[in-house]
Amino acid sequence: MTARATDFDSLDELGSGRFGVVDRVIHRDSGCLFARKRIRLSFDQQEHELQQREISVLKRTVECPFVVYFYGAMFHDGDIHILMELMDASLRQFYLAAYSSAVNMPITNPCCNTLPIRDIKPSNMLINRSGRVKLCDFGVAGILKNSIAKSNVGCQLYVAPERVSISMATGGGLGAGDEPGFTTASDVWSLGISLLELASGAHPYGSWKNPFHQVQHLTEGPPPSLSAEAAAGRFPQELNDFLSCCLAKKANDRWRLPQLLEHPYVGGVVAMETELRDRTGQFVCSVLDRCDSSSLAAVGVTVKE
Ligand code: ADP
Ligand code: MG
Repeated sequence: MTARATDFDSLDELGSGRFGVVDRVIHRDSGCLFARKRIRLSFDQQEHELQQREISVLKRTVECPFVVYFYGAMFHDGDIHILMELMDASLRQFYLAAYSSAVNMPITNPCCNTLPIRDIKPSNMLINRSGRVKLCDFGVAGILKNSIAKSNVGCQLYVAPERVSISMATGGGLGAGDEPGFTTASDVWSLGISLLELASGAHPYGSWKNPFHQVQHLTEGPPPSLSAEAAAGRFPQELNDFLSCCLAKKANDRWRLPQLLEHPYVGGVVAMETELRDRTGQFVCSVLDRCDSSSLAAVGVTVKE
């Protein structure tokens, strides 16, 4: 199918983020539904480059079953429109609408299999009514250089301790892909924080007041873990253990991807994948049927990182 940007009608808003709005659209001739991300083009060359990179990374990940399908990108009215597979909610929207540990398990395998995708966080983990979890937004954080430094050094909720230390040591600005310290070890940290957030229903570092508070907490405090109440009987011991492997404070102590994929928690999840998907799918449907799509979309607007 070849299509132009004007062949699509917007149905409703799915959410909004740093670069623009994502809406559900219908292709008029075929009746097919898509998610369309509209990225405002800035005149800033750095941003422009970044946005171009996002498109090229998207192109490379087309065939991965754990990544939302990318149909194409079009320029329109000074914006870039990215057409993707339509999912039903982000895990962030989902857990805020209906917290349940049920959504926790099926995400581990997709995440481990798509690292280093960068920018790992619950709003980039999408779920559909079949209980499938897929990641989106590839490469954005890895390439963000000036744009993050410009918008804020602070309160990047999923960033690893070594990355905030580097950024402070170098006078601000979080490291981009080619700077020391930005390795898959940092992605493993972000994965751990995201899993912890989804498991406990709240971000473990929800209370930072400013970037200095963040740096102090991240570098000097103990690594976050499931609270005793959250852990009590509700989660398998393997999850606690998996989290501590992801959330070692020193990047060198953190487990690497091949090790994580061998971890009993991931093994257990893979072994019961079909059953899990069915169960998660039923749960997702029951929640979404009760939810108003505009209330889900509103969740994204308030994301502050
Ligand atoms: P962020 O990831 O920082 O929240 P984005 O602009 O990437 O910002 O996306 C905004 C929101 O739109 C996401 O949080 C998610 O809820 C929703 N969204 C993005 N892509 C899709 C998609 N393919 N299907 C359904 N919802 C999506
Ligand atoms: Mg996103």
